Amino acid sequence: MALQRTFSIIKPDATRRNLTGKINAMLEEAGLRIVAQKRIQMTRANAESFYAVHKERPFFGELVDFMISGPVVVQVLEGENAVLKNREVMGATNPKDADEGTIRKTFAESIEANSVHGSDSEENAAIEIAYFFSGSEIVG
Ligand code: ADP
Ligand code: MG
Repeated sequence: MALQRTFSIIKPDATRRNLTGKINAMLEEAGLRIVAQKRIQMTRANAESFYAVHKERPFFGELVDFMISGPVVVQVLEGENAVLKNREVMGATNPKDADEGTIRKTFAESIEANSVHGSDSEENAAIEIAYFFSGSEIVG
């Protein structure tokens, strides 16, 4: 296994409920290091381009509205097999399908307001990290 980086977002439903620290603790307990982090308000253009891969899906408009409904915390996570490890800690997209102990099972409100985003591949992680962070903001 190799040291990897992945991109994570703590979504507006979670920042609204003051869950940033609790989610970060779950990430850290899973062996992921938060090597970059900032709290931002996404613009509509940010959210539309970040989720462009979903633009034909029926929920795209609502998803964009949700992602700009409050601040988010964008993060770079580092660890062994970080992409897959983060997906495991996050749990399934729909919290009803998520395993016990995962972030989404514990905190998500719905399939849309599901508290966290995590990259689905190393390739997408690199693209997503570069969209939100410059190299000097990432300190491993
Ligand atoms: P994941 O975040 O688990 O990688 P997807 O990439 O499929 O899931 O979807 C991106 C985001 O779009 C989800 O995290 C969720 O916020 C939202 N979403 C996915 N499916 C639905 C749906 N059927 N209805 C509403 N929102 C959805
Ligand atoms: Mg996805």
